[in-house]
Amino acid sequence: MNQYLTGFFDLPENLLALADECEGLCAPVFRKIDEIAAYNEAKVLAAFGRHKVSAAHLTGSNGYGYDDLGRDTLDAIFAEVLGAEDALVRHTLVSGTHALTVALFGVLRPGDRMVAVTGGPYDTLEEVIGLRGEGNGSLKDFGVSYGQVDLLPDGTPDYENIRRKVKGAKLAHIQRSRGYASRPSLTIETIGKICAAIKEVSPETIIFVDNCYGEFVEKEEPASVGADLIVGSLIKNAGGGIAETGGYIAGRKDLVELVSYRLTCPGIGREAGCSLNQNRPMYLGLYFAPSVTASAVKTSVFASALFEKLGYAVSPKYDEPRTDLILQLTLGSPEKMCAFCKGIQHGSPIDSHVTPLPWAMPGYENEVIMAAGAFTLGSSIELSADGPMREPFAVWMQGGLTWNTGKIGVLLAAAACMKEGEDG
Ligand SMILES: *Cc1c(COP(=O)(O)O)cnc(C)c1O
Repeated sequence: MNQYLTGFFDLPENLLALADECEGLCAPVFRKIDEIAAYNEAKVLAAFGRHKVSAAHLTGSNGYGYDDLGRDTLDAIFAEVLGAEDALVRHTLVSGTHALTVALFGVLRPGDRMVAVTGGPYDTLEEVIGLRGEGNGSLKDFGVSYGQVDLLPDGTPDYENIRRKVKGAKLAHIQRSRGYASRPSLTIETIGKICAAIKEVSPETIIFVDNCYGEFVEKEEPASVGADLIVGSLIKNAGGGIAETGGYIAGRKDLVELVSYRLTCPGIGREAGCSLNQNRPMYLGLYFAPSVTASAVKTSVFASALFEKLGYAVSPKYDEPRTDLILQLTLGSPEKMCAFCKGIQHGSPIDSHVTPLPWAMPGYENEVIMAAGAFTLGSSIELSADGPMREPFAVWMQGGLTWNTGKIGVLLAAAACMKEGEDG
């Protein structure tokens, strides 16, 4: 099945035989992924139709950007697709972390308390919250306090402590995807249960979901199961590999309005903010997002099956339910991490000839190694792998714009790890 690859890439025969076997194993999982993609593509297409998207929406505005039809309609389409009342989709949100920050500062006020109810948040939020760094304008500097409820040792939510700790809290933070943590990602069903538990004891608490890497992996999004605000990046799933930059913040209308005053200024909110030439890539990206997400999930599922066969600890396993793109591979040594990333890099369309090395990245505590040969800098809907250089020497792999090329990247990474094993 995969024999043709030897005509293009240096891949050992025994690995290709294993790849054939793994593809067979993954076939039923792939059918489910295709079914979800079909559902989400229909949802997106129907939303485009309902909002009467035309060529005029794809052209941008400049200056203040008042009455930017493309921008305002894209907000409405995102809201509909994400199951939310309202949304802000902006190329001026420079990253997922920025979108999360704007949303948090938009709704939190001095004296408020936020509680992370699914364990510590994504690394880059630590400085935003004020868990690291001092005097840099964090939420803590502005008088917002922080509490945390960890997941239970088995990775499930600690409902008892969640109920106890969220009472009176202004905001409860949930992170759908595992991030750089050794914890399971949270399915929509589980997020729904957490939301219900919070509403039961503290109906006023704003339920905030970091939805990064989650969009379109399931049929529903967290806003449909009780989340009040959800946030994500457009250089991950929701931009379909085509949006050049940006993020979204979606949820309850009153909260999105508050966030809009932080996005620009109190009083101006969403009325201003020109789209330049970014409407077309954001529309096209959303259109492609469910199918591109499916390719990335297939790449991840295949890698899980393959690396498990090669004897590595993988999470999630290939047949476990999926709610994000991320695969955690425990490789066990810094050398294997470097080999894996070199392989992924070699399978990239851009910069395939360079060798990634660990470096100190802004916002992260440990040195990080990253393989990313992407059309869009830092885009992780494109095949990429990264991990902090610390125990247990695991990499987190995600992305793959197309399944067939994603597979090649995974195979090159596997070949590099096999070679490292022989040499080391
Ligand atoms: C990627 C990610 C972020 C931050 O996104 P950046 O665009 O890298 O700033 C936040 N939370 C989670 C769970 C993520 O996966």
